[in-house]
Amino acid sequence: MKIHEYQGKEILRHYGVTVPRGIPCTSVDEAVNAAQTLGGPVWVVKAQIHAGGRGKGGGVKVAKSIDEVRQYASSILGMQLITHQTSPAGQKVRRLLIEEGADIKKELYVSMVTDRVSQRVVLMASSEGGMDIEEVAASHPEKIHKIAIDPATGLKDGEADEIAAKIGVPPASIAQARTLLQGLYKAYWETDASLAEINPLILTGDGKVIALDAKFNFDSNALFRHPEIVAYRDLDEEDPAEIEASKHDLAYISLDGNIGCLVNGAGLAMATMDTIKLFDGEPANFLDVGGGATAEKVTEAFKIMLQHPGLKAILVNIFGGIMRCDVIAEGVITASRAVKLSVPLVVRMKGTNEDLGKQMLADSGLPIISADTMEEAAKKVVAAANG
Ligand code: ADP
Ligand code: MG
Repeated sequence: MKIHEYQGKEILRHYGVTVPRGIPCTSVDEAVNAAQTLGGPVWVVKAQIHAGGRGKGGGVKVAKSIDEVRQYASSILGMQLITHQTSPAGQKVRRLLIEEGADIKKELYVSMVTDRVSQRVVLMASSEGGMDIEEVAASHPEKIHKIAIDPATGLKDGEADEIAAKIGVPPASIAQARTLLQGLYKAYWETDASLAEINPLILTGDGKVIALDAKFNFDSNALFRHPEIVAYRDLDEEDPAEIEASKHDLAYISLDGNIGCLVNGAGLAMATMDTIKLFDGEPANFLDVGGGATAEKVTEAFKIMLQHPGLKAILVNIFGGIMRCDVIAEGVITASRAVKLSVPLVVRMKGTNEDLGKQMLADSGLPIISADTMEEAAKKVVAAANG
């Protein structure tokens, strides 16, 4: 789960990390009031969307007067902000963060991620902040410093100091950087984050160390023990089909292709998408109805998938183990009738009650293309999508 910058900064503040004073808002009047409350002389008007690269995309503006705050707030609010992390259509800006302007002397980079190889939380840091860190990693890998943190001790003073010095924090500011890095680690650990990134972390003209941006992702499997994080969820930023799917306990991910895949089990979903790609098709989604789905659940899954604007054909690929093929068939038939199915549908079913399921589909009178093997199913659905 992702959150907004202003929410990430609330978390950081709670863990003793220095962030600029700022006020989130949703209208131009609120933005002007926020700027007046903060006091001048310089403010930054920042679009709040669940994507980075806002600065380059025109979603972060420095204002030198209240009039400029008003001007930038009205141009940014409601705009479709396009960045390298949004879809090509961009993301609509519904919230702003009005922040005091910081006196930036140097922009640095720090982040925490969970590293599967070392099985530890890894602190990454670089003197090259503010820009694309992927670019730095590619062209100057020696400028990225890493420490795998021992969970028994947490981030030790010496480790924090060493990494701070390596990225160019001057001696007089090392103690501040240590507090910040240790606070960041504690925030990451205690909230079950999967990413915590501060880009840029800045040094100010008077030697302060401040987190100027904040990006957090959280492990969805741990959200059950973090109601305070769930409260930060902003449904406006999420794909409506994915929200609908999560209500029905379905695993659904929108993709860019044109072939809908309804399967049971994540492994089968992967194999199905691979097979489609092998025959030059592109999946429109990943939809896993799970092991114990009812006909109602399959119907919902089908409806969600059919909302995909680029959908040209659907492949239902089911292994009937716990899930019975007749249940899937019932769901497919009900959903096809309910939504007046207008795209070709290829069905492959194997396992429990396979014959019954196939018979039900054949008796339904719906124009269903059946297939026996994965290869046959993939070829037929790719042909249907292209035809
Ligand atoms: P993004 O990463 O989405 O582009 P950032 O929050 O990193 O957004 O902002 C982009 C740039 O804008 C920063 O690198 C920094 O140079 C500038 N900036 C952001 N917040 C402030 C602030 N409070 N004061 C001064 N400059 C800022
Ligand atoms: Mg940033």
